[in-house]
Amino acid sequence: MDAKTHTLTLQHWIGGDWVDANSGETFEVINPIDDSLYCHAARGTSDDMQKAIKAARAAFPGFKETLPKERERWLLRVAEIMEVRKDELIDCLIDEIGSPIGKANFEFDKGLTMLRAAAGMCRNMRGETIPSDAPGKFSMSIREPLGVVAIITPFNVPLIKTTRLIANALALGNTVVHLPSEMAPHLTILMADIFNEAGIPAGAYNVVTGMGHEIGDSLTSNPDVDFVSFTGSSVVGQHINEICAKNKTPVTLELGGKSPTIVLADADLEKAMPLAARSIFMFGGQLCIGSSRFYVERPVYDEFVKRFSMIASKVSMGDLRDPNTVVAPIISQRQRDRVRTHIEDAVKKGATVAAGGEWEGNRCQPTILTGVSEEMTLCREETFGPVTSIYPIDSYEEGLEKANDTEYGLSSAIFTQDINKAMHFAKNSGAGMCHINGPTVHDEAHVPFGGNGESGVGREGTDADMEAMTTLKWVTVQL
Ligand code: NAD
Repeated sequence: MDAKTHTLTLQHWIGGDWVDANSGETFEVINPIDDSLYCHAARGTSDDMQKAIKAARAAFPGFKETLPKERERWLLRVAEIMEVRKDELIDCLIDEIGSPIGKANFEFDKGLTMLRAAAGMCRNMRGETIPSDAPGKFSMSIREPLGVVAIITPFNVPLIKTTRLIANALALGNTVVHLPSEMAPHLTILMADIFNEAGIPAGAYNVVTGMGHEIGDSLTSNPDVDFVSFTGSSVVGQHINEICAKNKTPVTLELGGKSPTIVLADADLEKAMPLAARSIFMFGGQLCIGSSRFYVERPVYDEFVKRFSMIASKVSMGDLRDPNTVVAPIISQRQRDRVRTHIEDAVKKGATVAAGGEWEGNRCQPTILTGVSEEMTLCREETFGPVTSIYPIDSYEEGLEKANDTEYGLSSAIFTQDINKAMHFAKNSGAGMCHINGPTVHDEAHVPFGGNGESGVGREGTDADMEAMTTLKWVTVQL
């Protein structure tokens, strides 16, 4: 605790010790609901980062030899302690990043499933036997952890990302250096404390807090880092991809999106409407898989706009601890400016606001725009706010073409009773994920989660991380 302000001051978690930044500096973490000070955190330097990478490297030889039953026990223990410390985690998700309690609980429950699924990976690290043309040769592959894994996470789902990625990396015998978002360090620090309490050996998991643009490169470009997992914006992802390509460091990039939903005339609107709303208004639209484009067949277009606008106007913007509240504050002034500019630019160029468009404090009302055209910024760029556009289409084919007319390719959805069109869309959508009669917002521990194009490279999830975070060694025995 800081004696003067009585706010929390977070330290790095390196090699099993809580340590200050070597510069002694800290930075402020702001509660987005009212811009009040939430806490201070150590402002990491590249020296701190080197120290964390060294600790992870030193811990690797011992950690990779730990038994599956030990890693399984530690990870299951993390889940148990999370349940005991649930209130702390939920409070943090509410006050650090402005999660409404419903979203915080959703993230907490999802986090538990991520950990338990990761625990199951420990016993599933399999190679195979391979036939050989050489007489008397026994041939096999052995699956091994990669080494030191760098994990960089965004602000919006810090618990899901921390539980999934850290747990998967550790389950496979890797050691980890984690750079959390500068807007959500406390959640990660709480989890580091929980991983420690669960018995994970010192140095296996390390956290350095700080400004990504100041210290990120010293992590991703370090030759002692064997794999980089990045989740965040496409701009930073591109930068990291270039660094990793230069150093031949394997990388997974989970980036932004402009995810489309097609609604055909035969869709069950009664069921589709609440799902459509959930797919863009949950957590104030600050979800990579949020649906920011709806393509609706003309016979139901007017009805869809009317009903969607009605729902939008009723979405609760109450207290974040009220279970009915859906709309979250936008995380930072920079991001609020972006959302505001996107709406203003669209309106100035002729778009119609069917619902919302106004602000209440740091929260943007759920906003629906029609008449959006190419020259408007939000037509193609990710807004990352509770803002979506509805476009009329004359046929499924037009919807498919428009849905795929994007640089992004994260999630996609279609609402229809026609299984042939639905499956055609599943096969031809340019996105990495496609949901039939379900919202673009969906995730589970064991699915291949990820996107194409500007939305990223590679997938995450238990099976995908098994491939990404391990390597196969070919071994022969001449009998
Ligand atoms: P961001 O790109 O600003 O930051 C993400 C992380 O990158 C932070 O930890 C930041 O500190 C770090 N960073 C910044 N510069 C860096 C550098 N040079 N090297 C290494 N790390 C650096 O993103 P954000 O605003 O926190 O999150 C929002 C974005 O994340 C949106 O674009 C959203 O779509 C995307 N996102 C994607 C997924 C997915 O799974 N595809 C999930 C959540 C969020």
